[in-house]
Amino acid sequence: MAESSSTETWTRCYIGLGSNLEHPVTQVATALLELERLDHCRALVHSSLYRSDPVGPPGQPDYINAVASVETTLSPIELLDALQAIEQQHQRVRIQHWGPRTLDLDLLLYGDQQISSERLTVPHPFIQARNFVLYPLAEIAPEVHIPNQISLANCLEHCENGTLEPI
Ligand code: ATP
Ligand code: CA
Ligand code: CA
Repeated sequence: MAESSSTETWTRCYIGLGSNLEHPVTQVATALLELERLDHCRALVHSSLYRSDPVGPPGQPDYINAVASVETTLSPIELLDALQAIEQQHQRVRIQHWGPRTLDLDLLLYGDQQISSERLTVPHPFIQARNFVLYPLAEIAPEVHIPNQISLANCLEHCENGTLEPI
């Protein structure tokens, strides 16, 4: 955990967590601890854990999801690097697009920034469409501003929670 200094700018970010392999509850709980311990990050808050239906290829196990938030002095790409390093610690293997995974960490929001680069799109493009992102996000930050999108409350009105359930 880094000490704050008067010249550093701390930006609040939101991260979506998901797992559907190798004891998903443990994967997500461990990842939350790892996020809490990240250098140059502080003040972690996180939602409950939720069980959700898989999106993508059929026949996958259910997912466990959560949303976490940290303040960070890392740049967006440095934070993505840190998130991908945690995925690697969880032996994340990319075989199939949207296929099953031990751990997925998506950078949902980085302050109010809008980013469109080869490696990073922020806000994450599918926030509005995903119940397993919207509901946990609303649990920890009901008033959060999603740049260039309708309000979170409005997103929730248009996205049924379906079989999403807190565990
Ligand atoms: P989705 O992005 O639809 O949730 P996914 O999480 O399964 O799909 P990944 O295979 O985890 O996709 O990531 C593919 C690439 O997406 C990453 O290598 C990363 O560079 C890029 N990417 C772009 N924007 C983001 C973001 N906001 N958060 C995380 N990765 C991102
Ligand atoms: Ca994802
Ligand atoms: Ca991802």
